[in-house]
Amino acid sequence: MSDRLPGFSTLAVHAGAQPDPTTGARATPIYQTTSFVFNDADHAASLFGLQAFGNIYTRIGNPTNAVLEERVAALEGGTAALAVASGHAAQVVVLQQLLQPGDEFIAARKLYGGSINQFTHAFKSFGWNVVWADPDDISSFERAVTPRTKAIFIESIANPAGSITDIEAISTVARKAGVPLIVDNTLASPYLIRPIDHGADIVVHSLTKFLGGHGNSLGGIIVDAGTFDWSTGGKYPMLSEPRPEYHGIRLQETFGNFAFAIACRVLGLRDLGPALSPFNAFMILTGIETLPLRMQKHCDNAKAVAEYLAGHPAVASVSYAGLPSDKYNQLARKYAPKGAGAVFTFSLKGGFDAGVSLVSKLQLFSHLANVGDTRSLVIHPASTTHSQLDDAAKVKSGAGPDVVRLSIGIEDKEDLIADLEQALGA
Ligand SMILES: *Cc1c(COP(=O)(O)O)cnc(C)c1O
Repeated sequence: MSDRLPGFSTLAVHAGAQPDPTTGARATPIYQTTSFVFNDADHAASLFGLQAFGNIYTRIGNPTNAVLEERVAALEGGTAALAVASGHAAQVVVLQQLLQPGDEFIAARKLYGGSINQFTHAFKSFGWNVVWADPDDISSFERAVTPRTKAIFIESIANPAGSITDIEAISTVARKAGVPLIVDNTLASPYLIRPIDHGADIVVHSLTKFLGGHGNSLGGIIVDAGTFDWSTGGKYPMLSEPRPEYHGIRLQETFGNFAFAIACRVLGLRDLGPALSPFNAFMILTGIETLPLRMQKHCDNAKAVAEYLAGHPAVASVSYAGLPSDKYNQLARKYAPKGAGAVFTFSLKGGFDAGVSLVSKLQLFSHLANVGDTRSLVIHPASTTHSQLDDAAKVKSGAGPDVVRLSIGIEDKEDLIADLEQALGA
């Protein structure tokens, strides 16, 4: 064996996996079982008391899911990860470890529409208060910090316009405030951006998108960077205080630099219950094996389509950070030098009606509410994903009435451009 550290593509295929010890199966088996037999009573007791690692029940952990967790932790450069049923479940589980009722967290205003909804409405009923900040104005994050602030949440490449967030600048604000920075890395995937390298303390993903990559399975994951000290000032009691459900152990003290991932599993997933099906974990693992190949093709196609649209007379503007003229191009060169992702927006001179008409004329692009599929996708955010926002908030979050969002797939770029050509021209 050489002592070379494996590269990204090697990790995408191998990290966390080995031939099945009992059967020799080379692909990771789907351990489709709810529960696991204990060796004896002592073994059972030590598993339940967190004195030993092992499988108990698939709501808490599963060997197929464990391979997925190790693989994504390796790709992101974290200490440990926890797979859950969806991206939204990952967000709930993360914040449940950090916030008590009455606490606040700061979130970038440019987010996936579902996250804006979840933070505004569902979390309010838990007593968690979101305070919005503008990712293009770092001082707005500083101004939003109060003694009740427990976390900052941003997207690395932000929905819906594919804008690039200055992760390092916001991580400096988080550090100063003594709170963790959570980065939703769904649109970038670790192939394009590794937020932990830029100061993130926690990374979350919707595995449903580019990591799974084929539009066939929901999933989410939480990656612990192992960088945050949870013990200071009693600010994070879930991690620093004795846990009554585990004989009074303190998670940070016992598990050190992967305590957050453990908290998410043994307090969040165990009690809230959004477990990932091992079948979905298998589908997503298979997807991840080709992540570097797919992601590069997604980005190359997106750049070609963005360039085509930027030169079209019916198009008012294109918002793609990979274009040299784009306002985020400088940040894209710094954070995502291999490509600026494959989700972006453009606006039509004909406004709302032209957007609706374009969506109905496209044939190769599927009109649906998803991103990060092998297939190219299109949606009109103002009438769908962002329809819950008022007009001013729509514009602020990059989803004005004239805006169309594309998620560029891995088809031949000439075919994608031809489809846009007939739909824009007709
Ligand atoms: C889709 C998505 C989510 C939510 O993930 P689900 O798997 O649909 O729950 C969160 N963040 C971003 C950026 C997304 O694209």
